[in-house]
Amino acid sequence: MKIVDLLKPVVRASSRYQLRVLNELVQHKLDEVVVGLDNQSRLFHDKLEKVVAGVDNQARLLNDKLSILIDLQKAQIAAIDDLTAALAEPGRQLRSQDFVQEIQRLGIHPFILVGLGQNSTADRFIACTTQNDAPAFVHRLAALPRFADSLLLRGIERALQQEIYDAGDLLYRWTRGDGALAETVQVLKADVQGRYNYPVFAFDAGSAPSGQERADALLAMLETYARCDGNDALRFSLMEAAALALGRAFGARGNFRQALAAVDKGLAVKPYSIHLKAAKHTLLLKSEGKEVPPRLEKFAGEDNGYLRQFVCPLPFERFDIGPNGDVLVCCGHWLPTTIGNFMNQSVEDILNSPTALAIRQSVADGSYKYCNHLECGTMAQDALPRREELDRPRTRKAVAEKNYRLDGVDQLMFAFDQTCNLACPSCRTHVITEKVSQSLEKARAVEEKLLPLLPSVRTLHINPAGELFGSKPSRKLLEMINDERCPELRLDIISNGTLFSREEWNKFPGIHNKVRSVRISIDAACKETFEKLRRLGKYDVFLKNMRFLRELRLSGTLPQLKFSFTYQLDNFREMKAFVAFCDEMHADFAIFERLQNIAFTEDEYRRKAVHHPEHPLYAEFIEVIKDPVFRTKRVWHDFDYDGVDNLSREEARNRISSVEVAVNAPVAGAESTAAL
Ligand code: SF4
Repeated sequence: MKIVDLLKPVVRASSRYQLRVLNELVQHKLDEVVVGLDNQSRLFHDKLEKVVAGVDNQARLLNDKLSILIDLQKAQIAAIDDLTAALAEPGRQLRSQDFVQEIQRLGIHPFILVGLGQNSTADRFIACTTQNDAPAFVHRLAALPRFADSLLLRGIERALQQEIYDAGDLLYRWTRGDGALAETVQVLKADVQGRYNYPVFAFDAGSAPSGQERADALLAMLETYARCDGNDALRFSLMEAAALALGRAFGARGNFRQALAAVDKGLAVKPYSIHLKAAKHTLLLKSEGKEVPPRLEKFAGEDNGYLRQFVCPLPFERFDIGPNGDVLVCCGHWLPTTIGNFMNQSVEDILNSPTALAIRQSVADGSYKYCNHLECGTMAQDALPRREELDRPRTRKAVAEKNYRLDGVDQLMFAFDQTCNLACPSCRTHVITEKVSQSLEKARAVEEKLLPLLPSVRTLHINPAGELFGSKPSRKLLEMINDERCPELRLDIISNGTLFSREEWNKFPGIHNKVRSVRISIDAACKETFEKLRRLGKYDVFLKNMRFLRELRLSGTLPQLKFSFTYQLDNFREMKAFVAFCDEMHADFAIFERLQNIAFTEDEYRRKAVHHPEHPLYAEFIEVIKDPVFRTKRVWHDFDYDGVDNLSREEARNRISSVEVAVNAPVAGAESTAAL
């Protein structure tokens, strides 16, 4: 309601004077109200101004802070950009002079010197002064930033760790121009004292050579190491790896002459290198325009992946104890890497050592990097099983799950004693008889470590290192075998036959129903050759023993009888007659294997190794083995020679299956397998 409306009744009742007074009063009050309102609004206005000013200040502060934050962020982004650019950029170029100065500072030319391009001042070099420092040096190398991107330095590191196949593969890939890292090898010019003789390496350092230049740099490294002295063990390993890589690098470019020259440089210091021998064989075939078995193609260029379809079961199933206790998982000529030592380690530690696991992985992933691709008979006959054909559940499971640890062995090879009554020239230069103390120590190890394992072992091979009937530890082991102690065990016996008489056989009744096969190494088909190659052996005694074995074979006591023959200059013309001798003695198989160099000098070996294409009688040898008798199913051999036909893969595999069925049949009442 308005004030005028409130005053209306008063106005009607009042005199003019009262009204005037009232009017003045109202006016006065109104003035007061207005003044009050003015004051309040002024105060309100002032306060509002203060608030606005405060907000302004806060906004300014906030704005300032935001600007600072934005600037900070910009600075951080710029720093990250700089860092990224620095990492993406190749490191600082290293000149020969930098290496020379470092060598002068050290006062010695280290065995291996690596310059680091990415380090501007301190720690610009790491050195391996001598090969004795290799473990610590390898450790420092592996800790370098971007080491995983390296092919050259990783190749060097693998070679120092004796992983030659891997080393060769990495170095080969480096020569191909692969790899994200700028790195190279340099050969310094010798100073007047000739101190600067080892090659040096630049890691993550500016621009690197590419393609052919890299192969040339690696060749220069190989040649320089060949001229150097000292640190022989690891220097030779570096040469072996480089030669392997160069065989592939030049081979891939069709330059077989240069590839062979590089491989020969490696072989000069590592004559027994299984990979270099395979490389040489492959490159020779290529250089002559001949066909190369698919498994060997990778030694003259790219890996065609042929072996990836197969898995060799032996590393999962075998445990071979050698004369000094070293344990292998295959024949030592075919896979010479040991997985542990029986005298110093427990069986479990050996079985699952890092090397054992690596070997199993290599046959599962198809690299076969520890295997002798050239001489492995299973590979040569193309008889490796495909992964789906593996028959032992433990092996199948390990391969399928990629878990290569094992808890037992199927096959035990007892080659723990070299004692033998003979001194065959192909095997040894003199008669070997172990000392009594040594025999006793070995017998103790057998009793403590081996016997507990026997109940689970399915096959025992005894004794490829010596003559079982002439060895105390072997005889002790034979005495311990019987049905109660090892019900599953079957024996494969290897013997020279000269002591394998009826009398000896009757001393070990526990093995009579457990023998699966007997293999006699003979190497001759007549008395004269036998007594030459079986030095100290008497042919007449030997023949009598072979007739006894024929008796055991015909009675079914022996499910399988095999005679073997290592061919060489002194006997290759008797190879066909040897097959006839096997027939006469009712042997199931005649086995032919090339001569290995175990006891000869290099010259003697070259003179006897008639299977080498450079041998003057090689052509005659090839004519001998072309005879159809060597393609029959009862003849096993490692022939891998141009112009010589072998059984087809299918025939070879069928033969293995039929042998396994026959040989694993129960002994008692077993039918003869001589007709195989
Ligand atoms: S592939 Fe040959 S060398 Fe390798 S483990 Fe098998 S049998 Fe031995």
